[in-house]
Amino acid sequence: MKPLRVGILGEGQLGAMLAEAGTALGVQCSTLSPSRTYDPQAYDAVTYENESLDFQFIKNLSNSVPYFFPPVSALEIVRDRLTQKNFLASLGIPVAPYVNPALFPSIEDAFSFLGREAIVKLCVSGYDGKGQFRMKTKNDIRKIPEIFRREQSVMEAVVSFEKELSIISVRSRTGEIAHYPLTENIHRDGMLIASIARSKNEPSLKKQAEQIANQILSKLNYVGTFAIEFFEVRGKLIVNEVATRVHNSGHWTLDGSETSQFENHLRAGLGLPLGSTRVLRPTLMINLIGELPTDELFAEIPSARVYRYGKTPAPNRKLGHLNLPIDSGQSAEEMIVDVLSRLGRAPFQRVHSLDE
Ligand code: AMP
Repeated sequence: MKPLRVGILGEGQLGAMLAEAGTALGVQCSTLSPSRTYDPQAYDAVTYENESLDFQFIKNLSNSVPYFFPPVSALEIVRDRLTQKNFLASLGIPVAPYVNPALFPSIEDAFSFLGREAIVKLCVSGYDGKGQFRMKTKNDIRKIPEIFRREQSVMEAVVSFEKELSIISVRSRTGEIAHYPLTENIHRDGMLIASIARSKNEPSLKKQAEQIANQILSKLNYVGTFAIEFFEVRGKLIVNEVATRVHNSGHWTLDGSETSQFENHLRAGLGLPLGSTRVLRPTLMINLIGELPTDELFAEIPSARVYRYGKTPAPNRKLGHLNLPIDSGQSAEEMIVDVLSRLGRAPFQRVHSLDE
């Protein structure tokens, strides 16, 4: 039998990790550049690794290939922060209070209406905290970059959260849904520094997260891996944002779960049964950002699996990640501090405070 052929749009690390998972599954994967043309019949299915690719291009391609996943209709809603928030709110899913600044005479008026510390985010193309501006007082708005006055944005209240969490879920073509456990995420300057995946979650948080995921995935008639980022506030989950793709906070699944988020994305899109999302071992994922440490430094970190993305170093660029098993009795927080200091990185701040 001929192997199934999957085209993966986008040439970043997510596409590369998808392709690797495909090879292990016996699927022939090719990464596709959006700037070139391809024979649509050369693939049994096409997917993407990055929601910021030209939407019209994706839409056209999706109409010409035998099967495209996740559905373009889901991407159309989620790729724009405002339509995404409107969609979530329409399902009754908790999100931070937000306004559309375009409905106000000025950004200043939108800020006054919201009446509290706020973050304005560009609707499209912002990620990892880019395309965002935070303001406490009207005085801060004077410093707002010009782009926020030109481009569509959404303004949301700053949430004073205890933790940031995410859930990676996957839905098959037949509507079967599987969830990985909630992962705790630590960010600095809007960028993910580390994810902690434990084998068990607090039951009420797990229930909330899975219910929200089930609701969204079913409504979108979704196929593939999906990510939801949350803020935890006094035991309740508030959705920060969602992504119609494999996600950085799911990289731990490469070593910590029976089936990785990458393999399950392909399984879903190819109509194969989903693989088990069972946790093999609690795992800590640490992003390698800006510059890659030397091999000698890695060698000093026992049992670390190192993933290098082959990218040119640049400030704030994700160049790779580490997965480390968390042994029983080990504190993940202490491990992060230890690994970051071994790698010569600044320590992390766990609590995101309004007064920082
Ligand atoms: P985003 O690109 O929207 O995921 O934002 C990146 C990071 O900025 C989040 O992971 C949070 O750490 C922080 N952040 C974003 N929105 C808010 C908010 N409304 N309140 C507090 N922190 C936020």
